[in-house]
Amino acid sequence: MIGLYIHVPFCKRKCPYCDFYSVEAKNDELLDAYVYRLLEEADGYKSRRVKVDSVYFGGGTPSLLSQKQIDKILNGLNKCFYIDNNAEVTAEVNPSSADYNKLLGYIGAGINRISFGIQSSSDRELNALGRLHNFKQAENAVYAAKKAGFENISADIMIALPGQTGAGVEKSVEDIINLGVQHISCYILKVEDNTPYAKMNLSLPDDDECADMYLRMCDILKSSGFDHYEISNFSKPGYESRHNLKYWRAEEYIGLGVSSHSYFDSVRYFNKRDLPAYLNGDNIRVTEDMNIDKAKEYLMLSLRLSEGISVKKYLSLGGGNDIYLKSESIGNRFLKIHNDNISLTEEGFLVSNEIISRLL
Ligand code: SF4
Repeated sequence: MIGLYIHVPFCKRKCPYCDFYSVEAKNDELLDAYVYRLLEEADGYKSRRVKVDSVYFGGGTPSLLSQKQIDKILNGLNKCFYIDNNAEVTAEVNPSSADYNKLLGYIGAGINRISFGIQSSSDRELNALGRLHNFKQAENAVYAAKKAGFENISADIMIALPGQTGAGVEKSVEDIINLGVQHISCYILKVEDNTPYAKMNLSLPDDDECADMYLRMCDILKSSGFDHYEISNFSKPGYESRHNLKYWRAEEYIGLGVSSHSYFDSVRYFNKRDLPAYLNGDNIRVTEDMNIDKAKEYLMLSLRLSEGISVKKYLSLGGGNDIYLKSESIGNRFLKIHNDNISLTEEGFLVSNEIISRLL
């Protein structure tokens, strides 16, 4: 069974660090028109009757969609795909656009997992990130989700923020754990070109401070019962993101919506970042170069996961048979070698790109 990703490219206001494809949601008619086009695109897959066991609404801000719009999308998708009764159905939710009634409507429409973009428990940091919510609102949103009946809740945290200290990271992580969520995704802020942040003179933690923050965060999460199952993701046992695991395990998924990516029928393709063309019904699909090195792809994706790689599989994909030798030369500070299995340590996660390039 494959995953379905639905991109919702609208936000109330653009955050200054963000380079995801999203535009300001001007009115509800625009959202209705987008929903209509999403379902037209889904209809193109109808004859295939593909089996699906995860649906993920990402963005942008999917929680700008009303319960009625979510309901319409999920009903439409059910007509085009075989969605498993036990499918994981996630919506990313911005704490500033969530209340009890909306979340109750979402659960009624079939959403069973919520991912809140909380980012920090410091209102000063949230303000510097240009977020529309404060931590009190985030707390209220999580409590509202629980009251509505959600039992699978994830929260995003960002670290290495302007002016952030190690103590600030500890407090955010502890405050967010105390909300009683089952899953936490943690991202290290990266200032992307062409964002307003890139033009600001920000005082950011240096690499060593950043590494200390990451490792401290890992320790706190682990001592609170979270498994570190992917570089940036931690979960209570059994609450790993089924949808995101498909990406890292190179399983297939179909993306719908502007700027979405797909890997289906062994072909990778994406829709361009062009909302007017998408709404117009133009063909904005681009097929990616499939001439990729399968062993390299496997190494790059699987080493993101704590489960790591199977050397047998790596060799069967054409990987170099000096992998053990190279791993041993890198050493056990960064890599764990156990029979057929090689995986990164937490310090290894921090420098994964460097290690992967040395292994290749
Ligand atoms: S709410 Fe999320 S997607 Fe929208 S601008 Fe902010 S970071 Fe980007």
